[in-house]
Amino acid sequence: MVRGGYGLNERPLVRILAEESIDAFRELSVLGVPFAQSGGRIAQRHLSGNTYPRSLYIAEGTGSALMKALKKRARELGVSIFGGLRAIDLLRDNDAVAGALLWKPHTATLTSIRAGATVLAMGGIGRLFADSTYPADVAADALGFALDAGAALIDMEFVQFEPVVTIWPEQCRGMEMPTAMLGDGAQLRNAIGERFMLRVNPPHGEKHIEKAKMALHIQREIDEGRGLFPGGVIFDTTTVPREKLESYISHCSRLRGAGLEPTTRSPIVAPGAHSVMGGVAIDERGSTGVPGLYAGGESAAGVHGASRIAGNGCSDTLVFGALAGRSAARCIRPSYCGRWSGMEGAVEQKLLSSGQFPIDEARRLKDEIRDTVAKAAGIWRSAVSLEEGLVGIGKIRQELLDARSDSLPSAVELMEARRMTDVAATVIGSALLRTESRGAHQRTDFPATDELNWLVHNEYRKEADGRLASRTIEVTKE
Ligand SMILES: Cc1cc2nc3c(=O)[nH]c(=O)nc-3n(C[C@H](O)[C@H](O)[C@H](O)COP(=O)(O)OP(=O)(O)OC[C@H]3O[C@@H](n4cnc5c(N)ncnc54)[C@H](O)[C@@H]3O)c2cc1C
Repeated sequence: MVRGGYGLNERPLVRILAEESIDAFRELSVLGVPFAQSGGRIAQRHLSGNTYPRSLYIAEGTGSALMKALKKRARELGVSIFGGLRAIDLLRDNDAVAGALLWKPHTATLTSIRAGATVLAMGGIGRLFADSTYPADVAADALGFALDAGAALIDMEFVQFEPVVTIWPEQCRGMEMPTAMLGDGAQLRNAIGERFMLRVNPPHGEKHIEKAKMALHIQREIDEGRGLFPGGVIFDTTTVPREKLESYISHCSRLRGAGLEPTTRSPIVAPGAHSVMGGVAIDERGSTGVPGLYAGGESAAGVHGASRIAGNGCSDTLVFGALAGRSAARCIRPSYCGRWSGMEGAVEQKLLSSGQFPIDEARRLKDEIRDTVAKAAGIWRSAVSLEEGLVGIGKIRQELLDARSDSLPSAVELMEARRMTDVAATVIGSALLRTESRGAHQRTDFPATDELNWLVHNEYRKEADGRLASRTIEVTKE
């Protein structure tokens, strides 16, 4: 992990992930998660960047099977689940977090949840980038909440671009082709039919290379004119043995649904913004350092360093989600009876102010933020694009700060958009500060890795006046 993360990984968190993944697997097995088997043993796929086949899976869809088992267990334990609500702000009791304010779009109503401990588990930056592989409802909220609450974000410049996101057939646009399939025999080819990965990564080709590097090689083929319309390379599924190919049930069925038979024809893929290695800084208990606030999964940062090894996203979520949950349960703060109305009033006051801002305009500004981030901090970055991006985000932010709304739906959009600008500024700002190339952060103006000056994290916090302040902090190596 440390090699794959280019040395920026927080070692105590790496140790926890390495040691506790096995426990997570055992726990899930006990809950009845039907991991795929082969020859009487649990099957393991060989993902890119990994030395050994070590990835467990469920052919029908790993994520949905895990969620099904965990939800069933939560119901058995009597956990209350409120659906259809979005968290739009945290409730604050001086320096501490005391719950969250939720928004129900269907009924345009607010609900507050009072909590002795709160866990941020709302994913990473997701749709902060135009054309991301993430679901539309993951939009950097957790990171914006953390900044507002006084927590720190680290490593925000490290955005991983998934190397093989489908761009054709159109109906499958945005579908990530599994890098595991490359381990099972799929090949990448450019417009002249060349298996270019053998040229750039001899003798392994598509294997033994981490995703971030593979994405760079694919992008270079496209940029240098060896791509196919509409701007990608061939993900050759026809070279995968039939039995292995059919084990990717959901991918095969989506391709067939779009009229492409993967045993005889292949989709076209290109890199797409995927996930962020950075996020909320946590300690070994999942605490953010803000009383009452914990973070886990993709909201939290530190374990992956400058690049996440394929397969580690899910293990991270399971291990650090559980860790944050356990710590939160242990550290429930005393009840705040009596002060609730003040706390709720403060949040509502922050939300609403007299004025009218069209909701469509707020949504348009969100799209503009996404486009600006994608242009400024794409797979290749330079001082020019990053400086332009910071100026662009600054302008949008000012427009949002000047906007007023006394209608709840548009006030909620405005609040979310303002938070997006904060997180966007940390992504672009960190990328500008880091004058080197490392892992998922590649500068065309600073192509070399600078071990002397840059084996450190970029950290961002929000000052009392709302300004974002950055500094570098040491990596914990013990
Ligand atoms: C296409 C794709 C393929 C992937 N493949 C793999 C893989 O093969 N192996 C692997 O290890 N990892 C993979 N990953 C990464 C892995 O899915 C993530 O690391 C993991 O899902 C992160 O879990 P999480 O719970 O932290 O966040 P998420 O799974 O992103 O969940 C966040 C949740 O928070 C909710 N949410 C967000 N904002 C709010 C809000 N304001 N209020 C209320 N709820 C909110 C969202 O609806 C969502 O349900 C993949 C990711 C994607 C997108």
